[in-house]
Amino acid sequence: MSTGSSIGIDIGGTKISAAVVKNNEIVSDVKVVNTSNTAKGILNQVLDITAALNNSNSVDALGIATAGAVNKDNSKIMGSTGNLPNGYSYIDFKDEIEKKFELPTLLENDANAAAYAEYKTGNGISKSNVIVITLGTGVGSGVIIDGKLMRGTSGGGAECGHIVMSIEKKRKCTCGTWDCWEAYASGTGYAITANEMAANIAKDKKAGILLEKEPGNITTYDVIEGLKNNDEFAIQVHNTWEYHVLLGLVSLTNIFDPECFILSGGMAEFITYDKIQKDLSKMALISNPQILPAKAKNNAGIIGAGILATQKYGK
Ligand SMILES: [Zn+2]
Repeated sequence: MSTGSSIGIDIGGTKISAAVVKNNEIVSDVKVVNTSNTAKGILNQVLDITAALNNSNSVDALGIATAGAVNKDNSKIMGSTGNLPNGYSYIDFKDEIEKKFELPTLLENDANAAAYAEYKTGNGISKSNVIVITLGTGVGSGVIIDGKLMRGTSGGGAECGHIVMSIEKKRKCTCGTWDCWEAYASGTGYAITANEMAANIAKDKKAGILLEKEPGNITTYDVIEGLKNNDEFAIQVHNTWEYHVLLGLVSLTNIFDPECFILSGGMAEFITYDKIQKDLSKMALISNPQILPAKAKNNAGIIGAGILATQKYGK
């Protein structure tokens, strides 16, 4: 039966969530389970969820948003999958699901899937060239060019968080190399910047939050709280972080010339949009893309995976 709907599943390190997606929206209950601590357990959870959401063979396909790079034809996970258990990246979800349910299955990197949802249902609607940047613990991204997710030669492209920002080997990145944008523009980078700056302030010059916190112990939360009280140190840290965010946007503008950037994730709400927009227009070579906050908030991974599956396999 042709329905134009697909199941979208988002597999994360702490929970797996899933729903039926039709016309770019969730049209069922959202099922959520805590992620199993074994690879086999996760496979069984995905099979159970699929059975529950496909109860009367009512969907055309299944899309999985997963940590890790996904290969070019969206069939296999290629590499490192963060905090998911050993063996996870070897699960052949596509094969296991298709032999049990006759549901054509597509995999996509979770940041790409969420970016695609923002493009189809959020502030990317009616645009063709959109870059979605997730500013959270790390920096995730999805690049949409001419209406399609840019995936590169292998499938693992568009990792904007790993643009290299410096030649000086100052900060180690989660990817194993040095000075990636993520090491500066993420929430983690924000705290590192705060502690580095605090260490350079003489004892007799300390004021505000620096009277209570020692360098090394300052958190992102401390600085954000300080901003609310116009703490001078907090403002300096925040401006430095926004400058770090800006530098990445300048590079991406000069490479991709997008219509807009959409900033999502927990740190995006602390961006001063008009200021960073003005600075981008001064620094970028040719174009001045809009910088917008994300609109598609919850379950973007589910929605993006579902839309991509329907686009590829919908009847
Ligand atoms: Zn990196």
